[in-house]
Formats: sequence, C-alpha cells, structure tokens
Amino acid sequence: MTEEYSYDDAIEGLKQLLSEKSELETIAAAKIKQLTADLEAASTKAVNPVERIKTGFAHFKTEKYEKNPDLYEELCKGQSPKFMVFACSDSRVCPSHILDFQPGEAFMVRNIANMVPQYDKIKYSGVGAALEYAVVHLKVENILVMGHSCCGGIKGLMSIPDDGTTHSDFIEDWVKICDIAKTKVKAEFGDLDIAELCTHCEKEAVNVSLGNLLTYPFIKAAVLNRSLSLQGGYYNFLKGSFDFWCLGHAISPSLSL
Ligand SMILES: [Zn+2]
Repeated sequence: MTEEYSYDDAIEGLKQLLSEKSELETIAAAKIKQLTADLEAASTKAVNPVERIKTGFAHFKTEKYEKNPDLYEELCKGQSPKFMVFACSDSRVCPSHILDFQPGEAFMVRNIANMVPQYDKIKYSGVGAALEYAVVHLKVENILVMGHSCCGGIKGLMSIPDDGTTHSDFIEDWVKICDIAKTKVKAEFGDLDIAELCTHCEKEAVNVSLGNLLTYPFIKAAVLNRSLSLQGGYYNFLKGSFDFWCLGHAISPSLSL
C-alpha cells in the first residue's frame, strides 16, 4: 500500500476482493468491527479534556517551569511587560508562539479579529480596563495590534450586507468596530474577489484599531510624550510571514520578516 492509497481506494479494493471471494466476508466483517472500535477509542482519547489539560500542564511544569526557576521566581515579585498585544482569539495565532513572548513579556487582549474599539466607558469597558491597566499602571512601552490571514471575524465583517442586517447576538455588532476599514477597502479594491478583499481588510482593520487607540486620553498623552509607541502587525500563516509597521506622525513603511 502506498501513501497515495486513499480511503476510497481502500474501500474499493475491499469490495473488489469480497466480490471475488465471498467466503472472506465473515473475516472482513470481524476486522471492520475491530477497526471501528479502535477508531472510536482513538477519537475519544483525542478530545478527553481532563487528560489534555493534565498532560499539557505536566509538560509545561517539567520542561519550562522547573527548568527556569530564576524567571518564575522573578515573576512572583510582579510583572513589568514592555508590550501590550491585541491578537485575535483564533486558535492559530497565539502571540506567545508566533513572536516567542516569554511569561512576563507581553500583556494581552485577545478578541474576535483583534479589534480595539473607540473609547467608550459603557459599551467596551472590558477593553478600556485592560488598556488603562497596561498603560497607566504597568506602563507598557509598546502596543502591538496584530492581524492575521484567513480571519473569520474580518470575513464576517466583509459579509455584512450593505443594508446592515445582522443575524448574530454579538459577533457582527463587535466586528462593526472596524466598519470604516471595510468601507475603505471596498472603495479601493471593489473589483477583487471576497478572499482578496478580506486580506486587505485584515490589514486595514489594524490601522483603524491603531487610530482608535488614540481616542483613549491616557494613550494619546503617553504617545505624545513618547513613553508609548503603537505598532501594527500582520501574521500570514499561509506564507509564514510577519509584517509590521509603526504609527508615528505617519505610518512607517512596513517591514517584512
Ligand atoms: Zn481572526
């Protein structure tokens, strides 16, 4: 059997054999029953949450915590991260993996499509509280807003019809935070297909969020006195690339890694 031998090929081969040698049916039935039981057991094991959490923490403890006692002892005294990061909740874009942030290095907010809403004490107090704590108390020196390829949240934003009709309890209302990115992308690239529009919007939405950061008075003040800088990033997991740019008086040229 070669690696190219597909599931369909295997089933077809079995059918062919049994059509020629029907006396093998009983043996084949027993083997298929056993195979089904094995696959069921394997799939059950793969999603056992208790085992996954236990083995995950055991690995972290022996491979990281116990091998780096100085770091974890230092972190017991407090945190002094240089970065605050806004990243998408998408399971493929964890900043600690992509940018190798170690414990204590980056204060994080993760939400649908890595968006920063405009200053709003009622509607978006969760984001505001995280920003206030990071900037006013921890005095982070950088805020990075990190977009990514194939973002479901951005696709959701781009899919909202022009009449604004929505069907979700929260998602569409949330992603409308970057509605002006959608408007800009449609005006500039309206003739492209939806996938390409989404790619442009994934990056443009980062710039909208960077602009929204400046609506928080304590952020604007920190940027103006140069104790805080704002950065945009874009992780493309299809290409394995990372682009980033800084928001100064103008947006700097993007650097690609
Ligand atoms: Zn996303």
